[in-house]
Amino acid sequence: MDLWAPKRRIEATYQRALRASMRSLENLLVDLDDPIEILRAIRNFSRSKGFAVYSEAAATKMVTHLFTDAGRTWRQAAKKNSRGRFIYEALQKEMAGPLGGTVMSQINRNAELIRSLPLDIARQVNGHIMAESLKGTRASNIVEQIKAFFPEASKTKAGLIARTETSKTSTALTRARSQSIGVNWYVWRTSKDARVRDAHARMEGVLVKWDSPPSPEQLDGEARTYGHYHCGDIFNCRCYPEPVIDLDLIKWPANVHWGGRIQRMSRIQFEAIM
Ligand SMILES: [Zn+2]
Repeated sequence: MDLWAPKRRIEATYQRALRASMRSLENLLVDLDDPIEILRAIRNFSRSKGFAVYSEAAATKMVTHLFTDAGRTWRQAAKKNSRGRFIYEALQKEMAGPLGGTVMSQINRNAELIRSLPLDIARQVNGHIMAESLKGTRASNIVEQIKAFFPEASKTKAGLIARTETSKTSTALTRARSQSIGVNWYVWRTSKDARVRDAHARMEGVLVKWDSPPSPEQLDGEARTYGHYHCGDIFNCRCYPEPVIDLDLIKWPANVHWGGRIQRMSRIQFEAIM
Protein backbone atom coordinates (compact mmCIF):
# COMPACT_ATOMS: atom_id res chain seq x y z
CA MET A 1 0.00 0.00 0.00
CA ASP A 2 1.43 3.37 -1.00
CA LEU A 3 1.68 5.61 2.02
CA TRP A 4 0.86 8.82 0.18
CA ALA A 5 -1.94 7.58 -2.06
CA PRO A 6 -5.16 9.47 -1.25
CA LYS A 7 -7.81 7.35 0.40
CA ARG A 8 -10.53 6.48 -2.09
CA ARG A 9 -13.13 6.12 0.64
CA ILE A 10 -12.95 9.89 1.27
CA GLU A 11 -13.79 10.49 -2.38
CA ALA A 12 -16.62 7.92 -2.20
CA THR A 13 -18.11 9.54 0.92
CA TYR A 14 -17.93 12.96 -0.71
CA GLN A 15 -19.62 11.70 -3.86
CA ARG A 16 -22.42 10.18 -1.77
CA ALA A 17 -22.97 13.50 0.02
CA LEU A 18 -23.21 15.34 -3.33
CA ARG A 19 -25.62 12.76 -4.73
CA ALA A 20 -27.80 12.88 -1.61
CA SER A 21 -28.30 16.64 -1.93
CA MET A 22 -29.17 16.33 -5.62
CA ARG A 23 -31.64 13.56 -4.82
CA SER A 24 -33.46 15.78 -2.35
CA LEU A 25 -33.72 18.32 -5.16
CA GLU A 26 -35.03 15.63 -7.53
CA ASN A 27 -37.74 14.83 -5.00
CA LEU A 28 -38.90 18.44 -5.08
CA LEU A 29 -39.38 18.16 -8.84
CA VAL A 30 -41.49 15.00 -8.82
CA ASP A 31 -44.89 16.73 -8.66
CA LEU A 32 -44.08 19.60 -11.00
CA ASP A 33 -45.45 19.44 -14.52
CA ASP A 34 -44.35 22.71 -16.08
CA PRO A 35 -40.77 23.16 -17.39
CA ILE A 36 -40.61 26.77 -16.17
CA GLU A 37 -41.72 25.73 -12.69
CA ILE A 38 -39.01 23.07 -12.67
CA LEU A 39 -36.34 25.62 -13.50
CA ARG A 40 -37.67 27.94 -10.81
CA ALA A 41 -37.61 25.13 -8.23
CA ILE A 42 -33.97 24.33 -9.07
CA ARG A 43 -33.01 28.00 -8.72
CA ASN A 44 -34.81 28.38 -5.40
CA PHE A 45 -33.17 25.25 -4.08
CA SER A 46 -29.70 26.44 -5.06
CA ARG A 47 -30.26 29.76 -3.27
CA SER A 48 -31.80 28.29 -0.14
CA LYS A 49 -30.19 28.70 3.25
CA GLY A 50 -30.50 24.97 3.91
CA PHE A 51 -28.49 24.08 0.82
CA ALA A 52 -25.79 26.63 1.69
CA VAL A 53 -25.43 25.07 5.14
CA TYR A 54 -25.35 21.59 3.64
CA SER A 55 -22.67 22.54 1.08
CA GLU A 56 -20.48 24.06 3.75
CA ALA A 57 -20.84 20.98 5.96
CA ALA A 58 -20.09 18.50 3.17
CA ALA A 59 -17.02 20.48 2.07
CA THR A 60 -15.76 20.82 5.65
CA LYS A 61 -16.17 17.11 6.23
CA MET A 62 -14.23 16.15 3.10
CA VAL A 63 -11.37 18.61 3.70
CA THR A 64 -10.93 17.84 7.41
CA HIS A 65 -11.13 14.13 6.64
CA LEU A 66 -8.28 14.46 4.12
CA PHE A 67 -6.43 16.71 6.53
CA THR A 68 -6.45 14.31 9.50
CA ASP A 69 -5.80 11.35 7.24
CA ALA A 70 -2.76 13.02 5.67
CA GLY A 71 -1.60 14.07 9.16
CA ARG A 72 -1.39 10.39 10.03
CA THR A 73 0.57 9.78 6.81
CA TRP A 74 3.08 12.49 7.67
CA ARG A 75 3.60 11.04 11.13
CA GLN A 76 4.17 7.59 9.61
CA ALA A 77 6.63 9.06 7.13
CA ALA A 78 8.40 10.88 9.95
CA LYS A 79 8.99 7.58 11.72
CA LYS A 80 10.67 6.14 8.65
CA ASN A 81 13.33 8.74 7.99
CA SER A 82 16.21 10.65 9.42
CA ARG A 83 14.39 13.98 9.82
CA GLY A 84 11.58 12.38 11.83
CA ARG A 85 11.95 14.36 15.04
CA PHE A 86 12.00 17.69 13.20
CA ILE A 87 8.93 16.87 11.11
CA TYR A 88 7.04 15.59 14.10
CA GLU A 89 7.60 18.82 15.98
CA ALA A 90 6.62 20.91 12.96
CA LEU A 91 3.36 18.98 12.66
CA GLN A 92 2.52 19.80 16.26
CA LYS A 93 2.31 23.52 15.56
CA GLU A 94 1.06 23.44 11.98
CA MET A 95 -2.49 24.73 12.35
CA ALA A 96 -1.17 28.02 13.68
CA GLY A 97 0.77 28.56 10.45
CA PRO A 98 -0.24 28.90 6.78
CA LEU A 99 -1.86 25.47 6.85
CA GLY A 100 -4.91 26.75 8.69
CA GLY A 101 -5.45 29.18 5.80
CA THR A 102 -5.08 26.42 3.21
CA VAL A 103 -7.69 24.31 4.98
CA MET A 104 -10.14 27.23 5.05
CA SER A 105 -9.63 28.14 1.40
CA GLN A 106 -10.12 24.51 0.33
CA ILE A 107 -13.37 24.35 2.31
CA ASN A 108 -14.63 27.57 0.74
CA ARG A 109 -13.69 26.50 -2.78
CA ASN A 110 -15.45 23.17 -2.40
CA ALA A 111 -18.57 24.63 -0.77
CA GLU A 112 -18.86 27.05 -3.68
CA LEU A 113 -18.55 24.22 -6.21
CA ILE A 114 -21.31 22.26 -4.49
CA ARG A 115 -23.53 25.35 -4.44
CA SER A 116 -23.02 25.77 -8.19
CA LEU A 117 -24.07 22.17 -8.91
CA PRO A 118 -27.87 22.72 -9.20
CA LEU A 119 -27.45 25.80 -11.40
CA ASP A 120 -24.99 23.99 -13.66
CA ILE A 121 -27.57 21.29 -14.14
CA ALA A 122 -30.32 23.91 -14.54
CA ARG A 123 -28.35 25.41 -17.41
CA GLN A 124 -28.21 22.02 -19.10
CA VAL A 125 -31.94 21.55 -18.47
CA ASN A 126 -32.62 24.98 -19.93
CA GLY A 127 -30.71 24.13 -23.09
CA HIS A 128 -32.67 20.93 -23.34
CA ILE A 129 -36.00 22.77 -23.00
CA MET A 130 -35.05 25.26 -25.70
CA ALA A 131 -34.01 22.54 -28.13
CA GLU A 132 -37.14 20.49 -27.51
CA SER A 133 -39.55 23.43 -27.82
CA LEU A 134 -37.94 24.34 -31.13
CA LYS A 135 -38.64 20.81 -32.26
CA GLY A 136 -42.25 21.30 -31.21
CA THR A 137 -42.19 18.74 -28.40
CA ARG A 138 -45.14 19.07 -26.01
CA ALA A 139 -44.47 20.54 -22.56
CA SER A 140 -45.58 17.36 -20.78
CA ASN A 141 -43.06 15.32 -22.76
CA ILE A 142 -40.32 17.84 -22.06
CA VAL A 143 -41.08 17.53 -18.33
CA GLU A 144 -40.75 13.75 -18.49
CA GLN A 145 -37.43 14.07 -20.29
CA ILE A 146 -36.10 16.56 -17.75
CA LYS A 147 -37.03 14.29 -14.87
CA ALA A 148 -35.22 11.42 -16.57
CA PHE A 149 -32.24 13.59 -17.52
CA PHE A 150 -31.68 15.26 -14.15
CA PRO A 151 -30.48 12.22 -12.14
CA GLU A 152 -28.09 11.21 -14.92
CA ALA A 153 -26.57 14.67 -15.21
CA SER A 154 -26.25 15.09 -11.44
CA LYS A 155 -24.65 11.67 -11.04
CA THR A 156 -22.03 12.46 -13.67
CA LYS A 157 -21.26 15.87 -12.19
CA ALA A 158 -21.13 14.59 -8.61
CA GLY A 159 -18.64 11.93 -9.69
CA LEU A 160 -16.43 14.41 -11.50
CA ILE A 161 -16.46 16.92 -8.63
CA ALA A 162 -15.74 14.28 -5.98
CA ARG A 163 -12.84 12.77 -7.92
CA THR A 164 -11.26 16.03 -9.04
CA GLU A 165 -11.72 17.99 -5.82
CA THR A 166 -10.56 15.38 -3.30
CA SER A 167 -7.43 15.06 -5.41
CA LYS A 168 -6.90 18.85 -5.70
CA THR A 169 -7.50 19.37 -1.98
CA SER A 170 -5.17 16.54 -1.09
CA THR A 171 -2.41 18.08 -3.24
CA ALA A 172 -2.99 21.54 -1.73
CA LEU A 173 -2.67 20.14 1.81
CA THR A 174 0.47 18.16 0.98
CA ARG A 175 1.95 21.27 -0.61
CA ALA A 176 1.16 23.50 2.38
CA ARG A 177 2.56 20.97 4.84
CA SER A 178 5.66 20.42 2.72
CA GLN A 179 6.44 24.08 2.33
CA SER A 180 5.81 24.86 5.99
CA ILE A 181 8.67 22.53 6.90
CA GLY A 182 10.95 23.38 3.99
CA VAL A 183 10.28 20.31 1.83
CA ASN A 184 10.46 21.83 -1.65
CA TRP A 185 10.28 18.74 -3.86
CA TYR A 186 7.91 15.82 -4.40
CA VAL A 187 7.84 12.67 -6.50
CA TRP A 188 4.96 12.52 -9.01
CA ARG A 189 3.08 9.26 -8.41
CA THR A 190 0.38 7.85 -10.66
CA SER A 191 -2.19 5.22 -9.75
CA LYS A 192 -0.21 2.95 -12.13
CA ASP A 193 -3.20 1.47 -13.92
CA ALA A 194 -4.60 1.52 -17.45
CA ARG A 195 -6.68 4.65 -16.83
CA VAL A 196 -3.64 6.91 -16.29
CA ARG A 197 -3.39 9.36 -19.21
CA ASP A 198 -0.21 9.14 -21.31
CA ALA A 199 1.14 12.52 -20.25
CA HIS A 200 0.88 11.54 -16.58
CA ALA A 201 2.30 8.04 -17.07
CA ARG A 202 5.41 9.82 -18.33
CA MET A 203 5.58 11.77 -15.02
CA GLU A 204 5.60 8.65 -12.79
CA GLY A 205 8.64 8.84 -10.50
CA VAL A 206 9.70 12.31 -11.67
CA LEU A 207 10.92 14.77 -9.02
CA VAL A 208 9.07 18.08 -9.21
CA LYS A 209 9.68 21.32 -7.34
CA TRP A 210 6.63 22.90 -5.67
CA ASP A 211 7.41 26.33 -7.09
CA SER A 212 7.83 25.04 -10.65
CA PRO A 213 4.89 22.90 -11.85
CA PRO A 214 5.39 21.02 -15.14
CA SER A 215 3.20 20.96 -18.24
CA PRO A 216 2.86 17.17 -18.60
CA GLU A 217 1.15 17.39 -22.02
CA GLN A 218 3.89 19.64 -23.36
CA LEU A 219 6.61 17.31 -22.01
CA ASP A 220 4.76 14.47 -23.73
CA GLY A 221 4.80 16.34 -27.05
CA GLU A 222 1.01 16.69 -27.23
CA ALA A 223 -0.64 19.42 -29.29
CA ARG A 224 -3.29 20.17 -26.69
CA THR A 225 -1.98 21.28 -23.29
CA TYR A 226 -3.63 22.36 -20.03
CA GLY A 227 -0.86 24.67 -18.90
CA HIS A 228 1.44 24.06 -15.93
CA TYR A 229 -0.01 22.24 -12.95
CA HIS A 230 0.93 19.95 -10.09
CA CYS A 231 0.30 16.28 -9.57
CA GLY A 232 -3.39 15.67 -8.80
CA ASP A 233 -4.31 19.26 -9.58
CA ILE A 234 -6.36 18.78 -12.75
CA PHE A 235 -9.76 17.28 -13.64
CA ASN A 236 -10.13 13.53 -13.25
CA CYS A 237 -6.51 13.09 -12.11
CA ARG A 238 -5.79 10.36 -9.56
CA CYS A 239 -2.05 11.06 -9.28
CA TYR A 240 -0.62 12.17 -5.93
CA PRO A 241 2.56 13.89 -4.73
CA GLU A 242 4.98 12.04 -2.49
CA PRO A 243 7.06 14.61 -0.57
CA VAL A 244 10.83 14.20 -0.84
CA ILE A 245 11.71 14.19 2.85
CA ASP A 246 14.81 12.03 2.78
CA LEU A 247 17.14 11.71 -0.25
CA ASP A 248 18.22 8.28 1.03
CA LEU A 249 14.77 6.98 0.12
CA ILE A 250 15.12 8.01 -3.56
CA LYS A 251 16.57 5.62 -6.11
CA TRP A 252 19.46 7.41 -7.89
CA PRO A 253 19.94 8.42 -10.63
CA ALA A 254 16.41 9.87 -10.76
CA ASN A 255 14.28 11.75 -13.30
CA VAL A 256 13.98 15.42 -12.39
CA HIS A 257 11.76 18.12 -13.90
CA TRP A 258 14.22 20.96 -14.31
CA GLY A 259 14.59 23.76 -16.85
CA GLY A 260 11.34 22.79 -18.60
CA ARG A 261 12.47 19.22 -19.36
CA ILE A 262 12.83 15.90 -17.62
CA GLN A 263 16.49 15.26 -16.87
CA ARG A 264 18.23 12.22 -15.47
CA MET A 265 20.30 13.30 -12.45
CA SER A 266 22.66 11.72 -9.97
CA ARG A 267 22.20 12.53 -6.30
CA ILE A 268 25.12 14.96 -6.44
CA GLN A 269 23.65 16.78 -9.45
CA PHE A 270 20.29 17.01 -7.69
CA GLU A 271 21.79 18.31 -4.44
CA ALA A 272 23.38 21.10 -6.45
CA ILE A 273 19.97 22.39 -7.63
CA MET A 274 17.73 21.59 -4.68
ZN1 LIG B 1 -2.90 12.10 -13.19
